[in-house]
Amino acid sequence: SMEKYSLDKVIGEGSFGRALLVRCKNTQDEYVLKEIQLPKNPSKLDSWRREAVLLSGMKHPNIVAFREAFEADGLLCVIMEYCSGGDLLQRILRQENTHFCTDDILQWFAQLCAATQHVHNKRVLHRDLKSKNIFLTDDGTVKLGDFGSACVLNSPRAYAQTYVGTPYYVAPEIWENKPYNNKSDVWSLGCVLYELCTLRHPFQAPSWKSLILKICRGAYPPLPGHLPYELRVLVKQMFKINPKDRPSVHTILTSHRVSRLLRARL
Ligand code: ADP
Ligand code: MG
Repeated sequence: SMEKYSLDKVIGEGSFGRALLVRCKNTQDEYVLKEIQLPKNPSKLDSWRREAVLLSGMKHPNIVAFREAFEADGLLCVIMEYCSGGDLLQRILRQENTHFCTDDILQWFAQLCAATQHVHNKRVLHRDLKSKNIFLTDDGTVKLGDFGSACVLNSPRAYAQTYVGTPYYVAPEIWENKPYNNKSDVWSLGCVLYELCTLRHPFQAPSWKSLILKICRGAYPPLPGHLPYELRVLVKQMFKINPKDRPSVHTILTSHRVSRLLRARL
């Protein structure tokens, strides 16, 4: 299967391996090949393969499309759609201090809600929603990617213990060792929405300890007043400490006061 592709360049150094830009020799189309170091432990091996299967089941215009997966030399190789606009974090950093216009914020956020709703409808949790895992195409569409942390609801969970990623987006219940749920994804999505609005993380601190304290108190600088009232209300609700008080993605898209603004942009 590897012979079908030729290597263009390395585009990212992932936590589990490299991300490469490759070209299909037949069609000349570009793809991303994500190399994932397979664990030596055979019991873990199955869970890694399950993730490739999980990703292959996600078909949505706002989710990075899966093409195929194969194993070669102890690596799991996942071939997926290439998003030439890079990731959303890079895009945010490029802005320096120029805010995004409200229309772009609403459109990107609407697309992210649609993607997350698709994931949640399949009873899957993404568990690593952050601007670095959201990709842009050349026409400005955003796509949710990196399902390397995703899990199927009701499967055995050991999440907080194994979490190694960036702490900025992690919901308060996870720090309190409660189970990860669909509303924990909503919290992280709230962090991305806040970043789109301000170009800053909602929760920032010089140390892990003070960061976790801020998250668990839900203490963040208020959004600037020029943003639509509906959006400021929504952020407040997405950052409710009790997951039950947060709206589901379905609610945000269908019966929230912000829904009208979002659906007009889908
Ligand atoms: P990890 O989270 O393990 O580092 P990612 O899948 O998020 O792995 O990929 C790492 C980097 O590779 C990303 O930050 C991005 O720069 C690049 N990348 C990954 N997937 C794509 C893609 N589909 N299109 C464009 N760039 C990608
Ligand atoms: Mg990633």
